Amino acid sequence: MARRRQIYEGKAKILYEGPEPGTIIQYFKDDATAFNAQKKGTISGKGVLNNRISEHVFTLLQHIGVPTHFIRRLNMREQLVRQCEIIPIEVVVRNVVAGSLSKRLGIEEGTQLPRTLIEYYYKDDALGDPMVTEEHIACFGWAGQEEMHDIADMAIRVNDFMSGMFAAIGIRLVDFKLEFGRVFDGEFARVILADEISPDGCRLWDMETGEKLDKDRFRRDLGGEVEAYQEVARRLGLLPEGLDTDVLDLESHRKKRGK
Ligand code: UDP
Repeated sequence: MARRRQIYEGKAKILYEGPEPGTIIQYFKDDATAFNAQKKGTISGKGVLNNRISEHVFTLLQHIGVPTHFIRRLNMREQLVRQCEIIPIEVVVRNVVAGSLSKRLGIEEGTQLPRTLIEYYYKDDALGDPMVTEEHIACFGWAGQEEMHDIADMAIRVNDFMSGMFAAIGIRLVDFKLEFGRVFDGEFARVILADEISPDGCRLWDMETGEKLDKDRFRRDLGGEVEAYQEVARRLGLLPEGLDTDVLDLESHRKKRGK
């Protein structure tokens, strides 16, 4: 295959120039990081699962009218997306207390929130993605007032949809992170959902057992990471019965073949 131009390499994905102007190819790696990349590892087969799970969720969100960057999945590890200007804000939506919220406010993990919480973090690895308010976002011009309105609106719609989707397969959607981007139609800019939605950026707990089916397995050294991601994919109906990690692990097959 002709060599493509790499645009960016992040912690879990590589972005390549797409086949047409205004398109990008997202390649999902098996690399995992946590605690602002202080902890690094590989979860063999994760990229394949996240590519598939994210395709599924973005497709369903598009069906209910949430505009997203997703165009189509290309192969096991790649998807074609619309190029957009990423808004440098991580939008965290929470239904249940966990992670940094639990630590910061000293509230026990697992406490159900009386209402959905939306938090914003400024995307800056060197600063460790500090939490910011809408005041900071407006003050520093990271996003406009109308854009923030659209973002909050979409975040709630995504949360309502995903809470139902996961509840139907016995999974509690505790919290998750979204990223948004801008696309331009001439002078007019519009906000769309970008990045990915996968167990890397969500907390997913089994409703019956409380078992963690997400990246906390890696963060907290619980083991069984890929099995947990597979379980999410399986319950979503994305894995044919019997398909295991070896089949999914294209990356190491490629490396073995020296490609
Ligand atoms: N999250 C993420 N990327 C980040 C920070 C958080 O995807 O850089 C997700 C995380 O997986 C969880 C939610 O956002 O589902 C809330 O994370 P939290 O603020 O509790 O931070 P953490 O405990 O993960 O450091």
